[in-house]
Amino acid sequence: MDIYKTIIIGGGPAGLAAAIYTGRARLRTLVLEKVATGGQLLLTDYVENYPGILQTEGGRLMETFLEQAQKFGAELAYGEVHDLRPNADGYEIVTGEETYHTLSIIVATGSSHRHIGVPGEKELWGKGVSVCATCDGAFFKDQIVAVIGGGDSALTEAIFLKNLCRQVYIIHRRDELRAEQILQERAIAASNISFCWNTVLEEIVGEKEVTSVRVKNVKTGERSEIALSAVFVAIGMTPNSGFLRPLVKLDENGFVLATHQMATSAPGIFVAGDVRSASYRQIATSVGDGVTAAMSVELWLENSGLIPALK
Ligand code: NAP
Repeated sequence: MDIYKTIIIGGGPAGLAAAIYTGRARLRTLVLEKVATGGQLLLTDYVENYPGILQTEGGRLMETFLEQAQKFGAELAYGEVHDLRPNADGYEIVTGEETYHTLSIIVATGSSHRHIGVPGEKELWGKGVSVCATCDGAFFKDQIVAVIGGGDSALTEAIFLKNLCRQVYIIHRRDELRAEQILQERAIAASNISFCWNTVLEEIVGEKEVTSVRVKNVKTGERSEIALSAVFVAIGMTPNSGFLRPLVKLDENGFVLATHQMATSAPGIFVAGDVRSASYRQIATSVGDGVTAAMSVELWLENSGLIPALK
C-alpha cells in the first residue's frame, strides 16, 4: 500500500507553506486540493502586506509558493475530501475518485464566503450578485454597485471597484468599520465611494439581472431603494471543516481548535490557516501556521517512531 508521510488538505498559503517544509524534511508529501491551488489569493487583485514583497498579484505569489513546494518534492492531486477515517497505519482520506493513505494530516482547507440570505441573493447569483470584485467587477464598468460589509474584505473590494465603477456604496450594518485603518483611509478619501451607515440589506431586486437593492436604516427604521447593477457580498467567512466532524474538535463556529503547535484533538491531525480557530486570517499568519504545522508533523512522526529520529 502506498502511504504518504503526510497529506496536506488544501493548497492555499497555509497548505503550500507546510508543503515546502515537509518537502524539505524529506517527508513524502501530497497536497490535496479541491479546485485550484492558491486559495482565496487567486481572487485577490493585489497583495501589499506580505512582508518582504512590496506589492504583487495574489495569483502570482501563489504560483511561486507552488513552484517552491514542488521543487522540494511535494506531490499535487485534485479531489474533494468526502471522508476521513482512522485506520491501523494512520488515516484514509476518501475523495470522489480515490482513497489516499497517510500517517499524518495537515488540514489547511481555509474558509468560504458567507451568504447574506436575503431574497434575490440566490436567484440573482452571477447576474449581478458576487463575492469577488476582481473576478466580476469589470462587468460593471462605469456603473453603480454596492459592497455589503465593513471588514477588510468589503473595503478591499470597494477600493478595487472605485477604479472601475461610477459609484460604489458600502452598505454596513453599524456606524463603525472593523477594516484595518489604512483601508478605511483609502475608502473614505475616494470621491466615488459613499457609506450607508447603520443600514441592512433587505432584498436584491431584479428579473434577469440586478436592478436595485432595498435597504433599511436600523437606527431610524427608514426604508429606501438604491438603483444599481451589482452587489458584492463581503460579510465574512465560514470554515471548510464539515468533513472533520466528529473526528476533530471544532469551536462553536466550526473552526478547528488547535494547540500552539497546530495539533488538533485527533492524533496525527494538524491544522493551519483560516480554518483554525482564532486565526487572524492573514497570508503571513497562515504561512506561519503552515510552517508550524509542518514542523509539528515531523516531530510527531519522530516521537511516534514512524520516522527515524534525526539525532
Ligand atoms: P470580517 O472581518 O468578519 O468582517 C465581516 C463584516 O461583515 C463585518 O463588518 C460585519 O459587520 C459584516 N457582517 C457580518 N455578517 C453580516 C450580516 N449578516 N449582515 C451584514 N453585515 C454582516 O470578514 P472579512 O472582511 O471577510 O475578513 C475576514 C478575515 O480576512 C479577517 O481576518 C481579515 O483581516 C482578513 N482579510 C484581510 C485582508 C487584507 O489584509 N487586506 C483582506 C481581506 C480579508 P460587523 O462589523 O458589524 O460585525
